[in-house]
Amino acid sequence: MSRGIHDNAVISLNQVDQTFHTHDGKPVTALQGVNLNIKRHEFVSLIGPSGCGKSTILRLVSGLLIPTAGQVSIFGLQVSEPRDEIGIVFQKATLLPWLTVIDNITFPMKHKYGRVTAEERSRAFELLEMIGLKDFADRHPKELSGGMQQRVGIARSLLHDPEILLMDEPFSALDALTRDEMSFELLRIWSERPKTVVFVTHSIQEALLLSDRIVVMSARPGQVADIIDVPLERPRTMETLSDPRFNTMANDIRRQVFSRKPEESTIARGDA
Ligand code: ADP
Ligand code: MG
Repeated sequence: MSRGIHDNAVISLNQVDQTFHTHDGKPVTALQGVNLNIKRHEFVSLIGPSGCGKSTILRLVSGLLIPTAGQVSIFGLQVSEPRDEIGIVFQKATLLPWLTVIDNITFPMKHKYGRVTAEERSRAFELLEMIGLKDFADRHPKELSGGMQQRVGIARSLLHDPEILLMDEPFSALDALTRDEMSFELLRIWSERPKTVVFVTHSIQEALLLSDRIVVMSARPGQVADIIDVPLERPRTMETLSDPRFNTMANDIRRQVFSRKPEESTIARGDA
């Protein structure tokens, strides 16, 4: 059963296939033969065309979905249901509009255990301070900008201090400046409280700035096309963005992503 599962991997996908069925019963192969091993406290980005199965990988790791074939493990144990060690951040903050900021952050605890301890509440305030919103504890989501709401979503995912953080295009709804700011914010949070992060993005720059490794996926069926090590030193700063290696790597990855068209495209056949 442990065949192929790496001992030091926190997250391990071993020969994973995922097939869905459309409403008229046609099978859709979302993932095929995906192998991926992610080490403790590693920051890994998934990048690839829309529909290549990035969100599916996050759902598999989170236990919201069980693969059609193959194994998904966290900490060496096969995933069979959602687990507490995992925090999830989606593209939209999905805050509850009728709750204040602080109550939104503690909501998952309240929902799960029926109450929020004093300790959790004070930790929620610490997180608010960390994301620079301590004066907004009693505001409601609609009083906050998109970037602020997304920060609250991140704070909410961090409340139970999860070992693993899964982020599905968390900054893609934000404007470019807020995006950069949020990336540096995330790096700071990650260095203060190290976690194993799987980060889905459409932005090559974002993936390069944040990651230790970038997983490039190809579409139809979703497969791992390449895994790229990012040798840029940490801490990464504004200067990292102007490092010549940064632009060279971004161009290489862009070329790679765009040379992998869906299988049915005859244009891409030659360089696949
Ligand atoms: P990505 O996040 O890379 O854009 P997804 O993981 O959301 O891609 O989806 C991968 C493929 O699986 C897509 O073709 C999508 O339409 C399909 N898919 C995802 N979830 C379902 C589902 N619940 N039912 C049917 N098809 C699905
Ligand atoms: Mg997606």
